[in-house]
Amino acid sequence: MPITLPKWKLPVLVALLVLCSVLVTSSFESMDSRSKLELTLPKLDSLHQYLAYDQPRLAFINATLIDGTGRPTRFQQTILVEHGHFKASGDSDSIQVPKGFLQVDLEGKTIIPGIVGAHNHLHMPGFAFIGDVASTLHLACGVTTIQTCGAASPLKELALAKRIAQGIQLGPDIINSGPYFTGPGGSTAMVIPRNAGHIEDTMKHWIDKGARWFKVYRHTRPEDLQTIIETAHKYDCKVSGHFCSVTFEEAIGMGIDGIEHGLKSASDFRTDKKPGLCGGARTYMDELAIDGPEVRRLQQMMIDSAVFLTSTLSITETRVPQRSFADERTRKAMSPYLLQEYTNRRLRLDEDLKKFKEEKRFQRVMAFDAQFFEMGGLLASGVDPGRHNLPGFGDQRNYEIFLEAGLKTEEAIQVMTSNGARVLGLDHIGTIEIGKRADFVILDGILSDDACVIKRAETVFKAGIGYDSARLLETTDGKVGLAD
Ligand SMILES: [Zn+2]
Repeated sequence: MPITLPKWKLPVLVALLVLCSVLVTSSFESMDSRSKLELTLPKLDSLHQYLAYDQPRLAFINATLIDGTGRPTRFQQTILVEHGHFKASGDSDSIQVPKGFLQVDLEGKTIIPGIVGAHNHLHMPGFAFIGDVASTLHLACGVTTIQTCGAASPLKELALAKRIAQGIQLGPDIINSGPYFTGPGGSTAMVIPRNAGHIEDTMKHWIDKGARWFKVYRHTRPEDLQTIIETAHKYDCKVSGHFCSVTFEEAIGMGIDGIEHGLKSASDFRTDKKPGLCGGARTYMDELAIDGPEVRRLQQMMIDSAVFLTSTLSITETRVPQRSFADERTRKAMSPYLLQEYTNRRLRLDEDLKKFKEEKRFQRVMAFDAQFFEMGGLLASGVDPGRHNLPGFGDQRNYEIFLEAGLKTEEAIQVMTSNGARVLGLDHIGTIEIGKRADFVILDGILSDDACVIKRAETVFKAGIGYDSARLLETTDGKVGLAD
C-alpha cells in the first residue's frame, strides 16, 4: 500500500527535514578545528595582547624535553600540538613536521609540563584574597592548574575560577576548596564545627557552589575530622590536612586523602601530646631520626593507604635566616607595604644569621619529603604563599629545593607536574604525552644543566594557547599585598 500524506502534512515534513539537516551540519561544524580552538582562546580582546601563540597547529623542534613522567631528559625533540592537545613527540630527525604546522625552533630551550600546584592558596596571611594577581603570577610562572587547599574568601575564589574557565580572565585552572575547618582554640576566621549536622550542612552548601576539596586545620577534633572525611567522600570530594590535634596515623585510619607540609605537622612525634588536642613539645623536629624506623613506618602507612603528601618547602624556607631572601622579581611584585615588611623582617633575621638551628630543621623537613618520594609515596608540591614566597615564584623555587633535597631533575619535575595531577585526579594533564591537553612551559635554557632555568619561563601554554610570560609579569608590579 503506497504511503500517502494529507496535503497539510507535507510542508511540516519538509520543515522538519530542513531543521534536521541544519542540526546535522552545525554539529559537524562544532567538530571543526576553529570552533574547537575558540573554546580555549581568551574571550576578551584586551587579553589578546598576552598571547604568544594562538595557531591551531604548532611544531616545536630541537627542544630539550622533560615530559613529567620521570623518564630521563631527551634532547633534540619534536613536539606536535594540534587543537590544544599533544599530537606527537619524538626525536627531531625521526618526526617530519606535517604541512600546515607552524614550526618553532627551540634549540637551547627546555619544555616541561605545566606545573600543577597542589597547595596554592588565593590568600596570604593578612590578605584574605589575592586571587587576581596570584592568577597572573601563576600563569606567568608556568603554573597551569592549582588546588587552593583552603579558602579564606571562597565565594570570590569560585567566581574567579569561573571567569578563568569562561576565558574572560587569565590564570590557571582552579580546583576550588571550601572554607577551612578547624576546632576549639583555632582561628575564628575558619569554620569551628558545632556538631556533625553543622559540618554536613556547611559542606553541602559549599559543594553545591562548586567546592571539591576541604582543608582541615590544626585544631580540628578527631570526631569532626571523621565526619568531614565521610561527608566529603559521600559527595566525591577530598580532604587534606595540616594537622596538630590529630596525628597522621589517626588521620590515615579515618581515610584522609592527603597530608600537607610533612614533618612540621607530624604531631605523631610530639612529646607529652594529649589525644585530640594540639599541644606537646616539638623537640622531635631536632632529634627524631628521619631515616629511622618510626618515620619510615609512618610514611609506609601513608603509602599503603594511598595518602599523598604535599611538600611546601619554599614557604618553610622563608623562616630560615640564611635563606630568607626575596629575589629581584619578587621584590618588584610586592606592594610598598609588603616590601617594607620584608625589609624589616630581613633586618631582624640578619641578627640571627649565625644561628643554624632553623637551617638544620629545614634540612630535616627536606629529608622527610625526599624520603617519602624515594619510598614510593605520592609526593606533590605547592607554594603555600606567605611572607615573600609569592604565587608562581615560590612554585619555581620548590624545584631548586627539591634538587637540594636529592631529587633528580626529572623527579622534581614529576613531583611538580604529573604527581600534582594524580593528586587532583586529573588524567588529561600533568605529562607531555600524546592525547593529553597541551599544558606546557618553554624555559629559556637547558634545565638539566642549570636549575635556575626553572625561573626563566618564556611562554606558558594552557590548552595549546601560548601566553607571553614577560608581558603577564609586567602587569603584576607592586600588586601583591594591596587590599583587594
Ligand atoms: Zn597553607
